[in-house]
Amino acid sequence: MAYQALYRVWRPQRFEDVVGQIHITRTLQNAIEQSKVAHAYLFTGPRGTGKTSAAKIFAKAINCENKPVKEPCGECDACRGIQDGTVSDLIEIDAASNNGVDDIREVRDKVKYAPTSVSYKVYIIDEVHMLSTGAFNALLKTLEEPPEHVIFILATTEPHKIPLTIISRCQRFDFKRINQQAIVDRMKHILDDQGIKYEENAIIHVGLAAEGGMRDALSLLDQAIAYSEDDQIHLDDVLAVTGSIAQGQLLTMIDALKDKRAKEALQQLDELLQAGKDPSRFVFDFIHFLRDILMYNSADGMEEALVRAIPDQQFHETRSKVDPDWLEQAISILNQTQQEMKWTNSPKILVELALLNMQEIDQEKVEAPAASAPSPELMQQIAYLEKELKALKEQGVAMPTEQPVQEQRPRANSNRQSSYRTPHEKVRHTLSEATKEDVSHVKTNWASFMEGLKKTSAPAHAKLVNSTPRAASSRSLILSFKYEIHCSLVMENQEMIETLLSEFIGKRLTIIPVPDQEWDSIREDFLNQQPEEVEQTDEQVQQEQEEDQLVSEAKKLVGEDLLEIKDS
Ligand SMILES: [Zn+2]
Repeated sequence: MAYQALYRVWRPQRFEDVVGQIHITRTLQNAIEQSKVAHAYLFTGPRGTGKTSAAKIFAKAINCENKPVKEPCGECDACRGIQDGTVSDLIEIDAASNNGVDDIREVRDKVKYAPTSVSYKVYIIDEVHMLSTGAFNALLKTLEEPPEHVIFILATTEPHKIPLTIISRCQRFDFKRINQQAIVDRMKHILDDQGIKYEENAIIHVGLAAEGGMRDALSLLDQAIAYSEDDQIHLDDVLAVTGSIAQGQLLTMIDALKDKRAKEALQQLDELLQAGKDPSRFVFDFIHFLRDILMYNSADGMEEALVRAIPDQQFHETRSKVDPDWLEQAISILNQTQQEMKWTNSPKILVELALLNMQEIDQEKVEAPAASAPSPELMQQIAYLEKELKALKEQGVAMPTEQPVQEQRPRANSNRQSSYRTPHEKVRHTLSEATKEDVSHVKTNWASFMEGLKKTSAPAHAKLVNSTPRAASSRSLILSFKYEIHCSLVMENQEMIETLLSEFIGKRLTIIPVPDQEWDSIREDFLNQQPEEVEQTDEQVQQEQEEDQLVSEAKKLVGEDLLEIKDS
């Protein structure tokens, strides 16, 4: 016999098979028993949580020849006919493809005819939020004066898109995401019944990956069965079809990072990627896994707090070693990496940098402030990665940009795409106001500022390590970066960095990042254009002096703390 997909074979036929929605199924059963059936229902909830299955079971139960029944008998002509689709009084409409006013007018014209073979005509309109405004109006007319023998069941994943006039005419039931244990229990029941063997962890992992949807769980299970090479579902099969990273590997990696064994962590990452795992998936899984440890540790071992992690022995061994600070910083580093990954063609390097940054996290705390230089090994690894990144760029690997670069770039770089847009206007403006005193003041205090930054935030420090103060005015500072990618990365910590810098130099400067390779041509262009620039900026300077006066007046009035001055 040909293999039939589990989610088809095991589609619930009775209310008791609808997993995790007992608050709904019980209410519906009571209504049927007490003959208090409404004319319109709205079933809302995430996909795969049993909305249309419950609607069909309801249609069978109210039409079952043995009624009143709590469950459809599944044997009578009505039950069987509805089951196999031969009863024309059950009408299923997919609003995603029949959303026009004519589709609903046709329904309106037909509802007045009595059912042909059962007692109730049941209309199930799936994805009802897709109906057009005209169609909703037509539907509303029908719902306002429903014929006795007609029942509407509207199903949707997006109830907020349904007009209130419709909602107010329906009895509403909100289907919940199905609890993971309930999904696991149901899968085990099905697999036992089918005589399929499985590893416990494999099934738990399917439950995690399904994120509360029974249909997703069963179709993942189908894929894992198809993928497995023997007659058993292994954890590896599940990881292969879900693309996710095994918990054991994440735990080993956390151990390595905590113990400053970056080489091992990098090797492990390499193996994962070689095995075909996606770098973004790795970062995604890692973030959620760390989040689970954080929740578990702070919620006194509450297992319900776990979304992805399985609390086995290795989990407990590792999670007891990490403190909340470490976890929070690690999550924040990975979050930043996740953002950056959207704009790069070399995601692996970003993940590697993230791992190196994570290894550095609590070194800050353990070490005495004086001895805070990164280990030579780490510096070597960073240098290697940065060389690799540079080589990639020289090969012309495009760094996609969010929008086309409109600002005119220096000629030397005009045909190179970049992930960072140098703010040429601000740069020129700063240069026109720049003084030697300003920049040497910054340079004098730079080393101690960097020391301070390292203690405050290792990730921010790592981004500034290869930067050089180039020019400064009384209000802004041009910093050039050896690696262009740091120009955009540093902007994420801009506020913190500027605040800290102001503590060291005694005034607030807006940082303007520029890639090293652009700096020379920017400077040259500026010097060449000097005569015209001066004329232009005179006006600007005057205008800004006026603004400054206004700002300082305002400060006197409202107090400095309340006034946020932004560089436009
Ligand atoms: Zn029946």
